[in-house]
Amino acid sequence: MNKDRVFWWDINESLVTLQTHKFPKILDFVIVGGGYTGLSAGITIARQGKSVVVLDSGKPGLGASTRNGGMCSGQIRISHGALSKRFGEEFANEAYAEGVEARLDLEKFCKEEKIDCKFQMTGRFTGAMSSGDYEIQSREVERLNKVDGHKVHMVKREDQHKEISTDLFFGGMIRDEIGGFHPAKFFAGLLSCAEKAGVVILSETPVLEIKDISEGKKSVVTSKGVITSGKVIIATNAYTGTQYGVGKFLRKRLVPAKSAIIVTEKLGVKKVKAMMPKLRMYGDSFNLHSYFRPTPDQDRILLGSRSFDKLEVTRRTEKHLKRKLTQIFPDLIDSKVDYCWQGNVGFTRAHLPVIFEHKDIFYAAGYAGSGTVWARWLGKKAAETAMGISNKNSIFYGPPPLKIPFYDGNPWFLPFVQYYYAMKDWIKVRR
Ligand SMILES: Cc1cc2nc3c(=O)[nH]c(=O)nc-3n(C[C@H](O)[C@H](O)[C@H](O)COP(=O)(O)OP(=O)(O)OC[C@H]3O[C@@H](n4cnc5c(N)ncnc54)[C@H](O)[C@@H]3O)c2cc1C
Repeated sequence: MNKDRVFWWDINESLVTLQTHKFPKILDFVIVGGGYTGLSAGITIARQGKSVVVLDSGKPGLGASTRNGGMCSGQIRISHGALSKRFGEEFANEAYAEGVEARLDLEKFCKEEKIDCKFQMTGRFTGAMSSGDYEIQSREVERLNKVDGHKVHMVKREDQHKEISTDLFFGGMIRDEIGGFHPAKFFAGLLSCAEKAGVVILSETPVLEIKDISEGKKSVVTSKGVITSGKVIIATNAYTGTQYGVGKFLRKRLVPAKSAIIVTEKLGVKKVKAMMPKLRMYGDSFNLHSYFRPTPDQDRILLGSRSFDKLEVTRRTEKHLKRKLTQIFPDLIDSKVDYCWQGNVGFTRAHLPVIFEHKDIFYAAGYAGSGTVWARWLGKKAAETAMGISNKNSIFYGPPPLKIPFYDGNPWFLPFVQYYYAMKDWIKVRR
């Protein structure tokens, strides 16, 4: 296994080669964080003729934006049914419709910018882990098909081999409007698009803190000097960490959970197609769910799920993911794992994405594992909102999310939460 080697980083083109720039002193906008959110915001701002710098504490993109599974869903973590109960049917409809709008906008963006990231609307199959889950999915299908842009249907257990060669599931749900891409190729395309638009991107430049100078002027203190900026957007999301003062407000409201991924050795296209005849994106209905897919060349399988590790991914997590994979495809018991890595996924208390403003600083974060679509979209929306040019705010624009009690960015409680959900999943399959 290539421990902590990300499959997506093995691309021929260079992932992060940046133009060189002099350190800027005064700018209209400073964006903190150079993932999908930060670059998308940067492009939107630069295309309005404003000066903007994106600063990243490490190499841009090496946070979640090139570590993900590449599934493009614009998914809302909470089902439409549950969301309607909590916030009303109108909110649920708008949130789900915005997910479709955001995904279509991503597809359009890739086409217009000629980003060759193998974006394909493959559809996604979510296997039901119990007959009860199959019933819940069936009710969700009825709800979703009433929301703009959704094309959803159920597949019975006896028909599921047309979708996937496993007997693990009790049937499942297909969402035709979901797809996938190569996350690092998308990132490389986004980066080059940002540079062409005139965004200055600086790596290895952590922002330490932000101070008010006067109305409409901020002093952005970095490890390399101070920038005077009109406005600031924070796009550090699940990589906000506890080490910099700048993350103080966000980190009390956002939980970074670890998710890990394995990629098998080359299995060959024939074998992968035999297991996944329609080459879709896939998942299951567990609380601690797994997500899996063929790699873009269709000759390996990628699977992601929870990680047990805080810092570096270990053999324990790799074994756990391999076990998940062989529960679905027992034939893969002897196949090797070539890659295993992990990254941070950001959750707000409500498990919903957020855009908000606090003390004249704008934030977008908390995509709950569906940021390939949400990050680009909400980065763009945050920039439009900050410039005051948005003709329609995102449904997720509002007051700052609630603080998480007894928490300051170090998610000490996650093992207990995971244990609780693992127990629920265990009970589910034993009923
Ligand atoms: C293992 C894994 C699998 C996933 N799978 C999927 C999937 O299949 N589909 C999907 O839709 N989503 C998935 N996601 C989620 C998705 O990748 C993220 O939501 C998305 O990439 C977030 O982008 P971002 O730009 O907001 O954050 P990031 O890409 O994490 O960027 C944040 C950046 O901020 C920088 N930063 C932090 N602090 C500072 C500072 N003080 N100064 C300067 N820079 C700073 C960091 O270095 C980092 O580069 C997955 C995530 C993980 C980790």
